[in-house]
Amino acid sequence: MITNMSLENLVNSSSQHNMGAVVQRHDGSLENHASDKRNVHEREAKQMYELVDAYLHSEIGEGFKEYITEQGKELVDIVGVGAGDLGHEGIVAAIYMNDVEGVIMSNYEGQTFSERVKALAKEYDVKEETIVEYVIAHELGHAAGYKTEATNEKFLSEYFSKQASVTNGKEREKYVSLAAIAQKREVDAIKAGK
Ligand SMILES: [Zn+2]
Repeated sequence: MITNMSLENLVNSSSQHNMGAVVQRHDGSLENHASDKRNVHEREAKQMYELVDAYLHSEIGEGFKEYITEQGKELVDIVGVGAGDLGHEGIVAAIYMNDVEGVIMSNYEGQTFSERVKALAKEYDVKEETIVEYVIAHELGHAAGYKTEATNEKFLSEYFSKQASVTNGKEREKYVSLAAIAQKREVDAIKAGK
């Protein structure tokens, strides 16, 4: 997943490579970054905004933000959430950020976020909502300063393992699965030098 790119890069790459994106701000306004599929990008941007917003205001999201603070880290300000063609077929989402602010984006490239989530849920044999939680926590991990894939997945596997140790039943099962996903992805990231 793409990290550490400035918001300006997003706009530039949109116009240079004929990609495009739509970003929703907190006031509900939509910014078009050279999108050539405005309807679908808008629809996907609104959906991603709702998912990220719901997570951030949920008990789970509040707990995750506290955990980030406990690690001595600070989230950059998430100023918008959007969707677009991010130039990489295989990625589900990305964060475009600098040291103070970031925009979380879902990737379209001909496949909706829901379709990508379904495929991943099948691959990892978990519920779709578990993948949504993974994807959002992953991008927020980057937003908390874990810039490489390997350091971010390590951080996530520790967080999910901790959650598994303080929950029971189905909730615990979910976090055991999430910790295993992050651990596998950490190994893959190290192998790939990411
Ligand atoms: Zn990533």
